[in-house]
Amino acid sequence: MKADIVTIFPDFFRGPLDYGITRRASEMGLAKIEVHDLRQFTHDRHRTVDDRPFGGGEGMVLKPEPIFDCLEALKLAPREQRLAGGAKESVILLSAQGERFTQKIAAELAVLDRIVLICGRYEGVDERVADFLADRELSIGDYVLSGGELAAAVVIEAVTRLLPGAVGNEASTRQESFTEHAVRESAAAEDDGPDSTCGSGGLLDYPHYTRPAEFRGMAVPEVLINGNHQEIRRWRRERALKKTLRNRADLLADAELNEEDKKILARIRDGGK
Ligand code: SAH
Repeated sequence: MKADIVTIFPDFFRGPLDYGITRRASEMGLAKIEVHDLRQFTHDRHRTVDDRPFGGGEGMVLKPEPIFDCLEALKLAPREQRLAGGAKESVILLSAQGERFTQKIAAELAVLDRIVLICGRYEGVDERVADFLADRELSIGDYVLSGGELAAAVVIEAVTRLLPGAVGNEASTRQESFTEHAVRESAAAEDDGPDSTCGSGGLLDYPHYTRPAEFRGMAVPEVLINGNHQEIRRWRRERALKKTLRNRADLLADAELNEEDKKILARIRDGGK
């Protein structure tokens, strides 16, 4: 996958994308990330990228011309073709007013050949970019950042780790928090062990522990040590349900719940253990 970032602060990306899986994916050639400096697409002596808002009001607004020019230089498929799904490319404007970025959207983006991420700054970006240039607006959460750069890095990291081959153990990205479909079908496979059988199915992940089994008087749950895969699986599912109910009850509405899950939930809600 190719990812193009359009920004007035290209140096911003020197840190965030140079570690872990994103770095490895770049080195392996799975992801090619290119940062484009918006100022290179200005035509005045001061390399102006912003201007005052029409209609008055606070702050400055990113001008449309450099952004349109930059995108033209990227030689993408025409917008109509992209919107009709006829191109495996997507132009994304990072915006607090965008659709909320989720794991589902990350998975949609991960199958594309190319994503272009436009980072806003100041009061935002001239609306013609959202109306006529970008295919979609994405927000990484209900809060306001000072720029789209961190948001673009978030999108790239979430997408990159879903690229086939980017994460050493691919099963691990299929059973994490928010992952839509549970991978519990493999529950029957005895030698599979319990760890690939607790897929989130839209829930939050189950808790993880590692050595030492006892640390400053805090012990790892006994069930994880006794090696009974069936019990471990049940315990993990129960803890995932518990945590989802406590921290993100909204996710339960769309989660894939089987009869056993529903029973566990009813028990937790009744105050049972
Ligand atoms: N006036 C805007 C905020 C502008 S913040 C408003 O009230 O909605 C400046 C830039 O930061 C935006 O153009 C956008 O690119 C980025 N940004 C801010 N919050 C964001 C968020 N939650 N998700 C993605 N990008 C965000």
